[in-house]
Amino acid sequence: MFDKILIANRGEIALRVIRAAREMGIATVAVHSTADSDAMHVRMADESVCIGPAPSPQSYLSVPAIISACEITGAQAIHPGYGFLSENAGFVQIVEDHGITFIGPSAEHIRIMGDKITAKETAKELGIPVVPGSEGGVPDLAAAKRVGESIGYPVIIKATAGGGGRGMKVARDEKEMERAFTTARAEAKAAFGNDEVYIEKYLTTPRHIEIQVFGDGKGNAVHLGERDCSLQRRHQKVFEEAPGPCISPEERARIGKICADAVAKINYIGAGTVEFLYENGEFYFIEMNTRLQVEHPVTEGIFGVDLVREQIRIAAGLPMSFTQDDLQITGHAIEVRINAEKLPNFSPCPGKITAYHTPGGLGVRMDSALYNGYSIPPYYDSLIAKLIVHGRDRSEALARLHRALGELIVDGIDTTIPLFHALLKEPDIHNGNYNIHWLERWLAANLPD
Ligand code: ADP
Repeated sequence: MFDKILIANRGEIALRVIRAAREMGIATVAVHSTADSDAMHVRMADESVCIGPAPSPQSYLSVPAIISACEITGAQAIHPGYGFLSENAGFVQIVEDHGITFIGPSAEHIRIMGDKITAKETAKELGIPVVPGSEGGVPDLAAAKRVGESIGYPVIIKATAGGGGRGMKVARDEKEMERAFTTARAEAKAAFGNDEVYIEKYLTTPRHIEIQVFGDGKGNAVHLGERDCSLQRRHQKVFEEAPGPCISPEERARIGKICADAVAKINYIGAGTVEFLYENGEFYFIEMNTRLQVEHPVTEGIFGVDLVREQIRIAAGLPMSFTQDDLQITGHAIEVRINAEKLPNFSPCPGKITAYHTPGGLGVRMDSALYNGYSIPPYYDSLIAKLIVHGRDRSEALARLHRALGELIVDGIDTTIPLFHALLKEPDIHNGNYNIHWLERWLAANLPD
């Protein structure tokens, strides 16, 4: 096992990794920008290294600075968290070339899943059901129209290099295709420097269901069921739960096995998430994330396992500490993402926390790097806390969420906490009756900009 690891991240996820490492008796190194000298991850780690100025390209994304920090402190492995360098195959290669262990999958697996067309082709070859669509990239409008005709409208045009929900356009019929195709390409070029696009059948009322997988890199893999992350604003998840309110044990076992078998076949190592749209009982692959997800705590809640501990164990060459049969679901877990944002238009709201009180009690978990008097810097992601609750069933989890939100105090800035108070009054939320469009429609009706 490692003696010391470095965490190439900040905020709540850096704390999450430090906590797992400490329980395993592993020393931790935090890296930080000059804007984060007072950040909680710096205070909590055993050592810290300043790696550059506030803008992330010069600090949290600076590969030479992170490698140097590792060499200076003697850290043997790097945990990337999520975001930043976590899905950067070039970074993984450099880390390994320096004799440092990357706590995550291989550069090759990150590369395959990073490009959407390759990812979809790989998924198909591995027996994972995909959304019907074009065979790879679509070169011009005539080809786009042929695809539209063969799979049927509506269709969605997506950037091959896409991410973060950008560069996607829907065409409802052939007339709309010309405009949608041209705009999607222009947006893809502007956002990703690559104008290649592909086309998929547009699903009208799907849910977002994702399967957590874990591989040992030696051809063994398990799945840890699904998370329903359908409540999204601008393709950003805001509320996640496990198990999915609409997924039966049979469906879970079936799609879970397909995903576990697929990643086992490629000798995948560590944690991964296979994302699907789910409609009329069918799963349609959209992408795979080769890292820990923000919403991983809901899975930890229902299975009672520590996914970060498991990531570190696997990276150190130890076997997985559970088998598929060991993994049994207990109860229901829900996570809400608390952002430093002002409603109704969700504008970023950094600033100083003047009062902070966290909820507690049975089944409540707060993953956050906030503290009283902390000043949230304006340079980074607006996620400031994740409140996760666990109950014996979904209604107990919802009641617990309501109770915990009532205890939570974050003063001095605006946050998305009032959104969750409002959502908990909605019968659709209590009935689990929502899809990926529900929240946008609710926001337009209840919180107009
Ligand atoms: P990104 O990597 O940019 O987030 P994804 O492929 O993961 O792109 O898609 C993001 C979101 O866009 C999905 O969660 C869903 O809300 C919507 N979406 C993507 N593909 C489709 C589709 N074929 N039909 C309907 N909605 C889609």
